Amino acid sequence: MEPKINLAARVKQIKPSPTLAVNAKAKALKAAGADILNFSVGEPDFDTPDHVRAAGKAAIDDGFTRYTAVPGIPELREAIARRFAEDHGWQYTPEQIQVSCGGKHGLYNMAQALFGPGDEVLVLAPYWVSYPDIIQLAGATPVIVPLTEEKDFDLEIEVLVKYVTDKTRGIIINSPSNPTGSVFSREALEAIGKLALEHNWVIITDDIYDTITYNDGKLPHILDVNPALIDQTLVLNGVSKSFAMTGWRIGYTAGPQHIISAMNKIQSQSTSNPSSIAQKAALAAVSGPQDFPTVMKEAFEPRLDYILNALAAIEGVTCVKPSGAFYVFPNISAYYGRTFNGKKIEGSLDMADYLLNEYKIAAVPGVAFGADRFIRFSFATSMDVIEDGMKRFAEALGRLE
Ligand SMILES: *Cc1c(COP(=O)(O)O)cnc(C)c1O
Repeated sequence: MEPKINLAARVKQIKPSPTLAVNAKAKALKAAGADILNFSVGEPDFDTPDHVRAAGKAAIDDGFTRYTAVPGIPELREAIARRFAEDHGWQYTPEQIQVSCGGKHGLYNMAQALFGPGDEVLVLAPYWVSYPDIIQLAGATPVIVPLTEEKDFDLEIEVLVKYVTDKTRGIIINSPSNPTGSVFSREALEAIGKLALEHNWVIITDDIYDTITYNDGKLPHILDVNPALIDQTLVLNGVSKSFAMTGWRIGYTAGPQHIISAMNKIQSQSTSNPSSIAQKAALAAVSGPQDFPTVMKEAFEPRLDYILNALAAIEGVTCVKPSGAFYVFPNISAYYGRTFNGKKIEGSLDMADYLLNEYKIAAVPGVAFGADRFIRFSFATSMDVIEDGMKRFAEALGRLE
């Protein structure tokens, strides 16, 4: 029967987050008793550090449980400004910072504040699953620019320029990237910056993984490469990944005053403010010791080595070595066209289904990130799961005819 009430057109344009969907399916199968190896998770397998949890508890006990200022409590915005100054030398006032209900919501506020019908925003693929949909929810058009495995998913500026039109309003960059773990080279960032200055684009730089990197030396950042971009750049970060705080829902954005003020207007009419309790916990994270991401990174490193070796041993599979984050994004397309029980594996969705149904491995199909030849494994899981999972994965591929 047709439902009585019609939905708004915008809902039909977007899809539910595929990563959250795979994770939900894996959890449901596990709850039903299946021996699932879950590689779909997009969050650290660590507990929030003790001092951060204690700050959250203290906030409750102290009765810090009311509405806060729309952009977040001043002491948190001050601490974030100090963090940016210490880490990069960037001078933001607390008024130039908005705290939101997670990094994802910061992106949502930005898109609502900046983009509308007729606007195009450049999104580099493989992209984080939410970028295109958040842009579409603002009525604007995501324009997908392909990055290639051959270039380690670095940006090729001669490819990018083919997608630029007089409607291009901005670009989203994510370095280290989810799902590839790749970082942009200084040259690529310089080239993006040059175009942005020339065409007055807004640059949205999603730095959520910037504390989890496997390369020596400082990560190139577009604002460090070209400080002149400060008046047209929005810096997105948060505590979800760096302090294992995904459930607390705290992200933050720094940028030009008029854009942050517009984002605050949107926030005031939607969520009012992020949770008061979570803000106190985030304050402890941002202003306290900064060694926690390193502790996680040291746990991730041997897992990454193991996975890369295991993948390299599988015929036909290739994988760019990630420079950061906690994902590998192998190319499995050599196995497309092969069959299992007469059923052909046509792409990453079929492969993810096959792995989950036949081998109880949950991984996210590359098509969710705009790259169908790949599949994403998160290594924010135990070494036991990784060893077992890589064995099953090799077996699964070997069995295809
Ligand atoms: C996890 C993630 C975010 C932010 O997540 P929140 O939980 O909303 O803070 C932003 N960008 C990327 C690429 C991510 O993977």
